[in-house]
Amino acid sequence: MQLPNAFRYSDPLLALQARRLRQLIVLLIASLLVAALINATRVDWPVLLAFVGGQVALLLSLYWLHTGHLKRSLLSVLWTMTVVCTVVIWLRTGIRDIAVLAYPCILVLAAMTISPRPLFALGGVMLLSLGALAWAEIHGWFVPIDQGVGLWSFINRAMILVIIAVCARTVARDLQAAVARAEAESERAKDSAARLAFLVQHDALTGLPNRLLVQDRFGQAMARAKRDDEPLALMVIDLDDFRRVNDSLGHGVGDAVLQRMAERLRVLASDTDTLGRLGADEFVVVSHESVDADSLAVFAQRVLEGLAEPFDRDGLRIACGSSIGIAQFPRDGDSFEQLLNRAEAAMARAKAEGRNAFRFADPEVDLDVGEHLRLVSELRTGLQRGELELHYQPIVQLASGRVTGVEALMRWRHPERGLVPPSAFIPLAERSGLIHAVGAWALEEAVAQVRRWEARGLPPLLVSVNVSPVQLVHGELEQVVQRALQATAAPPQQLQLEITESSLMGDAEPLRARLERLRAMGVGLSIDDFGTGYSNLGYLQRFHVQSLKVDQSFVRGLGEAKQGEGIVRAIAQMASSLGIRTVAEGIEDEPTARRLQALGCDSGQGYYWSGALPSAAFMQWFVEHHANRMVRAAAP
Ligand code: C2E
Ligand code: MG
Ligand code: MG
Repeated sequence: MQLPNAFRYSDPLLALQARRLRQLIVLLIASLLVAALINATRVDWPVLLAFVGGQVALLLSLYWLHTGHLKRSLLSVLWTMTVVCTVVIWLRTGIRDIAVLAYPCILVLAAMTISPRPLFALGGVMLLSLGALAWAEIHGWFVPIDQGVGLWSFINRAMILVIIAVCARTVARDLQAAVARAEAESERAKDSAARLAFLVQHDALTGLPNRLLVQDRFGQAMARAKRDDEPLALMVIDLDDFRRVNDSLGHGVGDAVLQRMAERLRVLASDTDTLGRLGADEFVVVSHESVDADSLAVFAQRVLEGLAEPFDRDGLRIACGSSIGIAQFPRDGDSFEQLLNRAEAAMARAKAEGRNAFRFADPEVDLDVGEHLRLVSELRTGLQRGELELHYQPIVQLASGRVTGVEALMRWRHPERGLVPPSAFIPLAERSGLIHAVGAWALEEAVAQVRRWEARGLPPLLVSVNVSPVQLVHGELEQVVQRALQATAAPPQQLQLEITESSLMGDAEPLRARLERLRAMGVGLSIDDFGTGYSNLGYLQRFHVQSLKVDQSFVRGLGEAKQGEGIVRAIAQMASSLGIRTVAEGIEDEPTARRLQALGCDSGQGYYWSGALPSAAFMQWFVEHHANRMVRAAAP
């Protein structure tokens, strides 16, 4: 039966104690009732009175228990039983009375439930009582009443034994349950401690060791390598364009990409390698087997190919290349920081030199982290000091040879490093956020330049400006475009924004709305490096793209394989059916230009006509090219 006011004992342990005490009181009241009835038949009034008094005291204990006074109730039960037993002993057979058996039971119960002071008090009273009895009997002051053996004496003993057995059994069961609970609790504590230890040392997303653990394992591997005079290698793997995946497809897809890449790395790495995730899209492998340059190169190539393999998610085909930097002990350093710095610098070089490649650390050419930061700050001041330049590469209509536009390509005229190509500083600008200022400058300068040429007699040219995905997602592109057009009063149709395919992946509403606003302003949109990313035709229509630029790799591939031709032809046909112009990039000779025209490309761009030229040189080139065309046209 549930304790009616169990809410008073909201603590589970107290509630259990209260329940047990209540059961005990009920048992004792019942036992005293039986004992009282037996004594009533024998008309032993003093004993009967003791039993009835005991029952009244027990009822009072029950009341206290009921009103939430557990401790008071418990003490009252223990004292009641001690007093009842003592009185019965004194009234009957003295020190030999069976009721003496109840003393140890009371003491055990008291020892388990109350503090030492009342326990000693109880024990003291019992001892005193027994001592006094013995003393009195020895001196003949107390004469025990021998009531002989009868049914009642059996019932008395049986009751005491039953009470002791029930109490012992209940206490034992509660103890077992408590031990089982404690064990389960300890298991849970062990589990959560192990989980905590795992989380502290592992990356929650991929389950790979984090920087902390990698560093620790590296320390052990380094100690072994030094002791045994063996080499060690540290490889940093950074996903290419991961930021674009995250920005345009959302973090859910970004996470899935990271998990997939981690799984692939687990398969590729050997059991003795330490694999970990260092940061957003950066993984690391510490290897102390097969660490000669050839084996490392083979492994790095396998990783590049393994990670680049596309996979499907939510109906999208996602591919993400990677760039790898490799540093070796003892050649490149002997601490985690040194090797990591060198490997990261080599990885940055792999990215700058075209991505999807691996590079070995080379202290002669790599920038370390400090140098990296210095370069960003130099770029910032370089922008203010006018060290950035735009060079212009003509875009030529293949059928007529007419120059219809230019692509503005950025250069940095560094006071010491000379002319720095965009691949060496645009990724830096993107990562540092400087791309917004740099990109805005390029847009305004490019539009201003075509207007200056016009003022000097050149026909209006379409100017294509490269826009970084970072500007597209986070920047204030519309305002920048607006400013550039207003400052020069250029018609918006004269400006075309070149964005890479991956910028358009997914259908992020803000991006769609932004491109829609730009289109409404009259500005053209071109997809750069088409075919290298996700080649999703849906967005070509959705975003009202005007032209797409067939990537150089297909143009180069034309001479090498028939397959290249098929791809270019398919792109050109598809684009033309959608009313989109095609511009082939990287044309270096006449046969390629002719072939591309035959395959259906509208325009071309490449060294065959000219590389990117400074504005004055471009104007001169344009005039000469125009004159040559006239001569060729006039020739019989
Ligand atoms: P992109 O937009 O695909 O530019 C074409 C690249 O191919 C240019 O390299 C160009 O010089 C090069 N190229 C042109 N014709 C040929 C050829 O016949 N053969 C070969 N092998 N290459 C050719 P560049 O100028 O080094 O620019 C590299 C990339 O840097 C650009 O690729 C573009 O993605 C980025 N970039 C350049 N300027 C800017 C800019 O102002 N803003 C942003 N966000 N990115 C820029
Ligand atoms: Mg471009
Ligand atoms: Mg391109």
